[in-house]
Amino acid sequence: MKLGKYSFGIGDRFGHQGKAQLAALVKAKEAGVDVTPVWNKSYREHRIIGTKPGDVRAEADAAVAACGWTGAYFVDADHIGLGNVDQFIEASDFFTLDVADFIGRPAEKVDVDAFVAKHAKLIGTLEIEGIGKAFEVGEADLKVLAAKYVAAVKEAGKIYRHIASKKGAGQFVTEVSMDETDLPQTPIEMLVILAAIADEGIPAQTVAPKFSGRFNKGVDYVGDREVFAREFEQDLAVIAYAVKEFGLPAELKLSVHSGSDKFSIYEPIQRALRKFDAGLHLKTAGTTWLEELIGLASAGGEGLEIAKEVYRAALARMEELCGPYATVIDIKPGKLPDPEVVAHWDGSLFAQALRHDPFCAYYNHHFRQLLHVGYKVAAEMGARFTGALEQYEDTIAEHVTTNIYDRHIRPLFLD
Ligand SMILES: [Zn+2]
Repeated sequence: MKLGKYSFGIGDRFGHQGKAQLAALVKAKEAGVDVTPVWNKSYREHRIIGTKPGDVRAEADAAVAACGWTGAYFVDADHIGLGNVDQFIEASDFFTLDVADFIGRPAEKVDVDAFVAKHAKLIGTLEIEGIGKAFEVGEADLKVLAAKYVAAVKEAGKIYRHIASKKGAGQFVTEVSMDETDLPQTPIEMLVILAAIADEGIPAQTVAPKFSGRFNKGVDYVGDREVFAREFEQDLAVIAYAVKEFGLPAELKLSVHSGSDKFSIYEPIQRALRKFDAGLHLKTAGTTWLEELIGLASAGGEGLEIAKEVYRAALARMEELCGPYATVIDIKPGKLPDPEVVAHWDGSLFAQALRHDPFCAYYNHHFRQLLHVGYKVAAEMGARFTGALEQYEDTIAEHVTTNIYDRHIRPLFLD
Protein backbone atom coordinates (compact mmCIF):
# COMPACT_ATOMS: atom_id res chain seq x y z
CA MET A 1 0.00 0.00 0.00
CA LYS A 2 1.39 3.33 -1.04
CA LEU A 3 0.43 6.67 0.38
CA GLY A 4 1.12 8.89 -2.63
CA LYS A 5 3.38 11.91 -2.95
CA TYR A 6 1.13 14.40 -1.16
CA SER A 7 -1.20 13.45 1.65
CA PHE A 8 -3.24 15.43 4.10
CA GLY A 9 -4.60 14.49 7.49
CA ILE A 10 -8.29 15.06 7.91
CA GLY A 11 -10.74 13.54 10.33
CA ASP A 12 -12.75 15.52 12.80
CA ARG A 13 -13.72 15.32 16.42
CA PHE A 14 -17.42 14.62 15.94
CA GLY A 15 -17.26 12.65 12.72
CA HIS A 16 -19.70 14.92 10.89
CA GLN A 17 -17.42 16.69 8.39
CA GLY A 18 -16.00 13.80 6.37
CA LYS A 19 -17.78 14.90 3.21
CA ALA A 20 -16.99 18.61 3.63
CA GLN A 21 -13.31 17.84 4.24
CA LEU A 22 -13.02 15.44 1.34
CA ALA A 23 -14.71 18.07 -0.87
CA ALA A 24 -11.54 20.18 -0.44
CA LEU A 25 -9.43 17.35 -1.85
CA VAL A 26 -11.88 16.88 -4.71
CA LYS A 27 -11.35 20.58 -5.49
CA ALA A 28 -7.59 20.04 -5.33
CA LYS A 29 -7.86 17.20 -7.81
CA GLU A 30 -9.90 19.40 -10.15
CA ALA A 31 -7.21 22.06 -9.82
CA GLY A 32 -4.57 19.52 -10.85
CA VAL A 33 -3.00 18.12 -7.69
CA ASP A 34 -3.58 14.69 -6.17
CA VAL A 35 -3.67 14.78 -2.39
CA THR A 36 -4.45 11.56 -0.52
CA PRO A 37 -6.85 11.97 2.41
CA VAL A 38 -5.83 10.34 5.67
CA TRP A 39 -8.43 10.28 8.41
CA ASN A 40 -6.59 10.50 11.68
CA LYS A 41 -7.64 10.53 15.29
CA SER A 42 -5.35 9.93 18.20
CA TYR A 43 -5.97 7.70 21.18
CA ARG A 44 -6.11 10.84 23.36
CA GLU A 45 -8.85 12.35 21.20
CA HIS A 46 -10.90 9.14 21.15
CA ARG A 47 -10.66 8.93 24.91
CA ILE A 48 -11.78 12.52 25.56
CA ILE A 49 -14.65 12.40 23.12
CA GLY A 50 -15.76 8.82 23.64
CA THR A 51 -15.40 7.60 20.05
CA LYS A 52 -13.87 4.38 18.73
CA PRO A 53 -11.47 3.78 15.82
CA GLY A 54 -14.32 2.04 13.97
CA ASP A 55 -16.26 5.33 13.96
CA VAL A 56 -13.47 7.00 11.97
CA ARG A 57 -13.48 4.15 9.45
CA ALA A 58 -17.26 4.47 9.07
CA GLU A 59 -16.98 8.25 8.54
CA ALA A 60 -14.21 7.85 5.95
CA ASP A 61 -16.04 5.13 4.01
CA ALA A 62 -19.28 7.15 4.01
CA ALA A 63 -17.56 10.35 2.84
CA VAL A 64 -15.71 8.50 0.09
CA ALA A 65 -18.96 6.97 -1.14
CA ALA A 66 -20.86 10.28 -0.95
CA CYS A 67 -18.18 12.23 -2.85
CA GLY A 68 -17.54 9.48 -5.39
CA TRP A 69 -13.84 9.59 -4.42
CA THR A 70 -12.01 6.99 -6.48
CA GLY A 71 -8.47 7.59 -5.21
CA ALA A 72 -6.75 5.97 -2.27
CA TYR A 73 -7.63 7.00 1.28
CA PHE A 74 -6.45 5.87 4.68
CA VAL A 75 -7.48 5.70 8.31
CA ASP A 76 -4.59 6.54 10.63
CA ALA A 77 -4.09 5.15 14.11
CA ASP A 78 -2.36 8.30 15.25
CA HIS A 79 0.34 8.19 17.94
CA ILE A 80 -0.14 4.64 19.07
CA GLY A 81 2.13 2.36 21.04
CA LEU A 82 2.10 -1.32 22.03
CA GLY A 83 -0.27 -0.55 24.91
CA ASN A 84 -3.17 0.68 22.77
CA VAL A 85 -2.56 -0.47 19.20
CA ASP A 86 -4.85 -3.51 19.36
CA GLN A 87 -8.09 -1.52 19.35
CA PHE A 88 -6.95 0.17 16.10
CA ILE A 89 -5.90 -2.91 14.14
CA GLU A 90 -9.17 -3.62 12.40
CA ALA A 91 -10.26 -0.09 11.48
CA SER A 92 -6.89 1.37 10.49
CA ASP A 93 -4.59 0.91 7.52
CA PHE A 94 -2.11 3.62 8.51
CA PHE A 95 -0.21 3.45 11.77
CA THR A 96 1.77 6.25 13.38
CA LEU A 97 4.24 4.54 15.69
CA ASP A 98 5.04 6.98 18.44
CA VAL A 99 8.45 6.37 19.96
CA ALA A 100 9.07 9.80 21.51
CA ASP A 101 8.83 8.42 25.03
CA PHE A 102 11.55 5.89 24.31
CA ILE A 103 14.14 8.36 23.02
CA GLY A 104 17.10 8.46 25.36
CA ARG A 105 16.27 5.16 27.06
CA PRO A 106 19.63 3.46 27.31
CA ALA A 107 20.20 0.97 24.51
CA GLU A 108 21.95 -2.34 25.09
CA LYS A 109 25.69 -2.05 24.51
CA VAL A 110 25.57 -4.93 22.06
CA ASP A 111 22.93 -3.09 19.99
CA VAL A 112 24.97 0.11 19.97
CA ASP A 113 28.11 -1.75 18.91
CA ALA A 114 26.24 -3.60 16.20
CA PHE A 115 24.81 -0.33 14.88
CA VAL A 116 28.19 1.40 14.80
CA ALA A 117 29.83 -1.60 13.11
CA LYS A 118 27.10 -1.80 10.49
CA HIS A 119 27.12 1.93 9.73
CA ALA A 120 30.87 2.59 9.96
CA LYS A 121 30.51 4.33 6.62
CA LEU A 122 28.94 7.28 8.43
CA ILE A 123 32.14 7.87 10.40
CA GLY A 124 34.50 10.52 9.08
CA THR A 125 33.64 13.32 6.66
CA LEU A 126 30.11 12.83 5.48
CA GLU A 127 28.72 14.66 2.49
CA ILE A 128 25.05 14.64 1.75
CA GLU A 129 23.83 15.94 -1.56
CA GLY A 130 21.74 19.07 -1.08
CA ILE A 131 23.43 20.13 2.15
CA GLY A 132 26.14 22.69 1.54
CA LYS A 133 28.50 21.69 4.31
CA ALA A 134 30.05 18.34 5.11
CA PHE A 135 29.53 16.73 8.52
CA GLU A 136 32.35 15.42 10.68
CA VAL A 137 31.17 12.35 12.56
CA GLY A 138 33.52 10.63 14.97
CA GLU A 139 33.06 7.03 16.15
CA ALA A 140 32.32 8.31 19.63
CA ASP A 141 29.62 10.68 18.24
CA LEU A 142 27.98 7.84 16.40
CA LYS A 143 27.99 5.73 19.56
CA VAL A 144 26.31 8.51 21.52
CA LEU A 145 23.62 8.92 18.88
CA ALA A 146 23.05 5.19 18.57
CA ALA A 147 22.71 4.97 22.34
CA LYS A 148 20.12 7.73 22.23
CA TYR A 149 17.95 6.40 19.41
CA VAL A 150 18.42 2.68 18.88
CA ALA A 151 16.17 1.62 21.77
CA ALA A 152 13.37 3.91 20.56
CA VAL A 153 13.54 2.58 17.03
CA LYS A 154 13.65 -1.00 18.34
CA GLU A 155 10.38 -0.21 20.11
CA ALA A 156 8.94 0.99 16.79
CA GLY A 157 10.11 -2.30 15.29
CA LYS A 158 8.19 -4.22 17.95
CA ILE A 159 5.00 -2.26 17.26
CA TYR A 160 5.46 -2.61 13.50
CA ARG A 161 5.93 -6.38 13.69
CA HIS A 162 2.95 -6.70 16.01
CA ILE A 163 0.72 -4.90 13.49
CA ALA A 164 2.22 -6.84 10.58
CA SER A 165 1.51 -10.12 12.37
CA LYS A 166 -2.19 -9.20 12.51
CA LYS A 167 -2.74 -7.34 9.23
CA GLY A 168 0.03 -8.79 7.06
CA ALA A 169 3.07 -6.90 5.80
CA GLY A 170 2.28 -4.52 2.96
CA GLN A 171 -1.33 -4.13 4.05
CA PHE A 172 -0.83 -0.80 5.79
CA VAL A 173 1.20 2.38 5.73
CA THR A 174 3.74 2.98 8.49
CA GLU A 175 4.82 6.30 9.97
CA VAL A 176 7.42 6.70 12.70
CA SER A 177 6.90 9.79 14.85
CA MET A 178 9.16 11.43 17.39
CA ASP A 179 7.73 14.92 17.22
CA GLU A 180 6.51 15.04 20.79
CA THR A 181 9.96 15.55 22.30
CA ASP A 182 11.68 18.61 23.77
CA LEU A 183 14.51 19.13 21.31
CA PRO A 184 14.56 19.10 17.51
CA GLN A 185 16.64 16.41 15.84
CA THR A 186 19.74 17.45 13.91
CA PRO A 187 20.35 16.13 10.36
CA ILE A 188 22.83 13.57 11.70
CA GLU A 189 20.35 12.43 14.34
CA MET A 190 17.75 12.05 11.62
CA LEU A 191 20.22 9.99 9.62
CA VAL A 192 20.89 7.69 12.57
CA ILE A 193 17.16 7.29 13.17
CA LEU A 194 16.55 6.39 9.53
CA ALA A 195 19.45 3.92 9.53
CA ALA A 196 17.98 2.28 12.62
CA ILE A 197 14.51 2.19 11.03
CA ALA A 198 16.01 0.40 8.03
CA ASP A 199 17.88 -2.03 10.33
CA GLU A 200 14.59 -2.88 12.04
CA GLY A 201 13.02 -3.62 8.66
CA ILE A 202 10.30 -1.00 9.13
CA PRO A 203 9.04 0.06 5.69
CA ALA A 204 8.38 3.63 6.85
CA GLN A 205 6.69 5.82 4.27
CA THR A 206 6.59 8.86 6.52
CA VAL A 207 8.70 10.10 9.37
CA ALA A 208 7.73 12.89 11.75
CA PRO A 209 10.72 14.57 13.34
CA LYS A 210 10.56 17.35 15.86
CA PHE A 211 11.26 20.66 14.15
CA SER A 212 12.53 23.73 15.93
CA GLY A 213 10.00 26.36 16.89
CA ARG A 214 6.57 25.83 18.35
CA PHE A 215 3.77 23.96 16.60
CA ASN A 216 0.93 24.98 18.85
CA LYS A 217 -2.51 23.59 18.11
CA GLY A 218 -4.62 25.61 15.72
CA VAL A 219 -2.39 28.69 15.45
CA ASP A 220 0.56 29.86 13.38
CA TYR A 221 4.14 28.68 13.72
CA VAL A 222 6.15 30.43 16.42
CA GLY A 223 9.88 30.49 15.82
CA ASP A 224 12.59 31.48 13.41
CA ARG A 225 11.35 30.79 9.90
CA GLU A 226 14.87 30.80 8.48
CA VAL A 227 16.00 28.15 10.94
CA PHE A 228 12.93 26.08 10.16
CA ALA A 229 13.45 26.40 6.40
CA ARG A 230 17.06 25.26 6.65
CA GLU A 231 16.16 22.37 8.91
CA PHE A 232 13.32 21.27 6.64
CA GLU A 233 15.58 21.27 3.58
CA GLN A 234 18.28 19.36 5.43
CA ASP A 235 15.76 16.75 6.50
CA LEU A 236 14.67 16.31 2.89
CA ALA A 237 18.30 15.89 1.84
CA VAL A 238 18.88 13.33 4.60
CA ILE A 239 15.78 11.38 3.59
CA ALA A 240 16.89 11.22 -0.05
CA TYR A 241 20.32 10.00 1.11
CA ALA A 242 18.81 7.43 3.48
CA VAL A 243 16.51 6.03 0.80
CA LYS A 244 19.53 5.37 -1.41
CA GLU A 245 21.97 4.24 1.26
CA PHE A 246 19.77 2.19 3.57
CA GLY A 247 17.20 0.86 1.12
CA LEU A 248 14.21 2.54 2.75
CA PRO A 249 11.01 2.86 0.64
CA ALA A 250 11.44 5.33 -2.23
CA GLU A 251 8.19 6.98 -1.08
CA LEU A 252 9.62 7.98 2.30
CA LYS A 253 8.69 11.58 3.08
CA LEU A 254 8.36 14.01 5.93
CA SER A 255 5.25 14.22 8.04
CA VAL A 256 4.51 17.56 9.69
CA HIS A 257 2.36 17.14 12.76
CA SER A 258 0.02 19.91 13.93
CA GLY A 259 0.76 21.27 10.47
CA SER A 260 -2.56 23.01 10.04
CA ASP A 261 -2.57 26.79 10.42
CA LYS A 262 1.23 27.10 10.15
CA PHE A 263 0.69 29.64 7.40
CA SER A 264 4.00 31.46 7.81
CA ILE A 265 6.07 28.37 6.96
CA TYR A 266 4.00 27.11 4.01
CA GLU A 267 6.02 29.15 1.56
CA PRO A 268 9.42 27.73 2.67
CA ILE A 269 7.87 24.25 2.78
CA GLN A 270 6.57 24.59 -0.75
CA ARG A 271 9.91 25.94 -1.97
CA ALA A 272 11.80 23.03 -0.39
CA LEU A 273 9.41 20.40 -1.77
CA ARG A 274 9.93 21.78 -5.26
CA LYS A 275 13.69 21.98 -4.86
CA PHE A 276 13.95 18.33 -3.77
CA ASP A 277 10.96 17.06 -5.75
CA ALA A 278 9.80 15.66 -2.43
CA GLY A 279 6.42 14.60 -1.12
CA LEU A 280 4.75 15.69 2.10
CA HIS A 281 2.30 14.42 4.65
CA LEU A 282 0.66 17.17 6.62
CA LYS A 283 -1.31 16.30 9.71
CA THR A 284 -3.87 18.75 10.90
CA ALA A 285 -4.67 19.46 14.52
CA GLY A 286 -8.38 18.73 14.64
CA THR A 287 -9.22 22.34 13.81
CA THR A 288 -12.19 21.36 11.68
CA TRP A 289 -14.13 21.51 14.92
CA LEU A 290 -13.36 25.24 15.07
CA GLU A 291 -14.88 25.64 11.62
CA GLU A 292 -17.98 23.97 13.05
CA LEU A 293 -18.09 26.62 15.77
CA ILE A 294 -17.54 29.38 13.19
CA GLY A 295 -20.35 27.95 11.09
CA LEU A 296 -22.65 27.70 14.11
CA ALA A 297 -21.87 31.26 15.19
CA SER A 298 -22.35 32.59 11.66
CA ALA A 299 -25.68 30.79 11.36
CA GLY A 300 -26.95 32.80 14.36
CA GLY A 301 -29.89 31.70 16.52
CA GLU A 302 -29.38 28.48 18.44
CA GLY A 303 -26.07 27.97 16.61
CA LEU A 304 -24.63 31.19 18.01
CA GLU A 305 -26.03 30.40 21.46
CA ILE A 306 -24.21 27.06 21.46
CA ALA A 307 -20.94 28.68 20.37
CA LYS A 308 -21.17 31.21 23.20
CA GLU A 309 -22.05 28.55 25.75
CA VAL A 310 -19.06 26.45 24.72
CA TYR A 311 -16.82 29.46 25.29
CA ARG A 312 -18.30 30.31 28.69
CA ALA A 313 -17.95 26.72 29.91
CA ALA A 314 -14.47 26.29 28.42
CA LEU A 315 -13.29 29.39 30.23
CA ALA A 316 -14.68 28.11 33.52
CA ARG A 317 -12.95 24.75 32.99
CA MET A 318 -9.75 26.07 31.45
CA GLU A 319 -7.34 24.17 33.67
CA GLU A 320 -9.03 20.82 33.12
CA LEU A 321 -9.35 21.27 29.34
CA CYS A 322 -5.84 22.58 28.79
CA GLY A 323 -4.22 19.84 30.89
CA PRO A 324 -3.83 17.18 28.18
CA TYR A 325 -2.55 19.82 25.75
CA ALA A 326 -0.32 21.81 28.09
CA THR A 327 2.82 21.48 25.96
CA VAL A 328 1.14 22.41 22.66
CA ILE A 329 -0.90 25.48 23.52
CA ASP A 330 0.05 28.93 24.73
CA ILE A 331 -2.88 30.84 26.19
CA LYS A 332 -2.56 34.11 28.08
CA PRO A 333 -5.67 34.22 30.27
CA GLY A 334 -5.53 38.03 30.39
CA LYS A 335 -6.05 38.15 26.62
CA LEU A 336 -9.25 36.13 26.70
CA PRO A 337 -12.46 38.11 26.23
CA ASP A 338 -14.92 38.36 29.11
CA PRO A 339 -17.84 35.98 28.52
CA GLU A 340 -20.21 38.82 29.48
CA VAL A 341 -18.81 40.79 26.55
CA VAL A 342 -18.92 37.77 24.25
CA ALA A 343 -22.59 37.34 25.22
CA HIS A 344 -23.31 40.56 23.28
CA TRP A 345 -21.32 39.60 20.18
CA ASP A 346 -23.16 38.86 16.99
CA GLY A 347 -22.25 35.80 14.93
CA SER A 348 -19.97 37.72 12.63
CA LEU A 349 -17.87 39.09 15.48
CA PHE A 350 -17.63 35.66 17.15
CA ALA A 351 -16.53 34.17 13.82
CA GLN A 352 -13.95 36.90 13.25
CA ALA A 353 -12.43 36.46 16.69
CA LEU A 354 -12.15 32.72 16.10
CA ARG A 355 -11.25 32.39 12.42
CA HIS A 356 -7.51 32.14 11.75
CA ASP A 357 -7.18 35.25 9.62
CA PRO A 358 -3.97 36.99 10.73
CA PHE A 359 -5.05 40.16 8.90
CA CYS A 360 -8.32 40.49 10.77
CA ALA A 361 -8.18 43.01 13.64
CA TYR A 362 -10.65 40.94 15.72
CA TYR A 363 -8.75 37.63 15.43
CA ASN A 364 -7.70 36.46 18.91
CA HIS A 365 -5.41 33.44 19.02
CA HIS A 366 -5.92 32.97 22.76
CA PHE A 367 -9.66 32.70 22.23
CA ARG A 368 -9.02 30.28 19.35
CA GLN A 369 -6.70 28.02 21.34
CA LEU A 370 -9.04 27.81 24.30
CA LEU A 371 -11.96 26.87 22.07
CA HIS A 372 -9.71 24.38 20.28
CA VAL A 373 -9.27 22.37 23.47
CA GLY A 374 -12.89 23.04 24.51
CA TYR A 375 -14.38 20.26 22.37
CA LYS A 376 -15.05 18.23 25.49
CA VAL A 377 -17.73 20.77 26.42
CA ALA A 378 -19.42 20.28 23.05
CA ALA A 379 -19.10 16.51 23.40
CA GLU A 380 -20.95 16.72 26.71
CA MET A 381 -23.77 18.68 25.06
CA GLY A 382 -24.44 15.45 23.18
CA ALA A 383 -27.40 15.53 20.82
CA ARG A 384 -27.91 19.27 21.26
CA PHE A 385 -24.52 19.89 19.68
CA THR A 386 -24.62 17.18 17.01
CA GLY A 387 -28.22 18.15 16.22
CA ALA A 388 -27.06 21.72 15.54
CA LEU A 389 -24.28 20.36 13.30
CA GLU A 390 -27.00 18.70 11.26
CA GLN A 391 -29.36 21.68 11.34
CA TYR A 392 -26.66 24.07 10.07
CA GLU A 393 -24.84 21.54 7.93
CA ASP A 394 -24.64 23.66 4.78
CA THR A 395 -23.19 26.76 6.43
CA ILE A 396 -20.67 24.68 8.38
CA ALA A 397 -19.63 22.59 5.37
CA GLU A 398 -18.73 25.72 3.43
CA HIS A 399 -16.40 26.89 6.22
CA VAL A 400 -14.82 23.45 6.57
CA THR A 401 -14.09 23.06 2.85
CA THR A 402 -12.85 26.64 2.42
CA ASN A 403 -10.51 26.34 5.38
CA ILE A 404 -8.81 23.22 4.04
CA TYR A 405 -8.71 24.21 0.40
CA ASP A 406 -8.02 27.95 0.44
CA ARG A 407 -5.90 28.25 3.54
CA HIS A 408 -4.01 24.94 3.37
CA ILE A 409 -4.04 23.01 0.10
CA ARG A 410 -3.57 26.03 -2.16
CA PRO A 411 -0.56 27.62 -0.45
CA LEU A 412 1.08 24.24 0.13
CA PHE A 413 0.59 22.54 -3.21
CA LEU A 414 -0.89 24.89 -5.76
CA ASP A 415 -0.10 28.61 -5.56
ZN1 LIG B 1 2.18 14.32 16.44
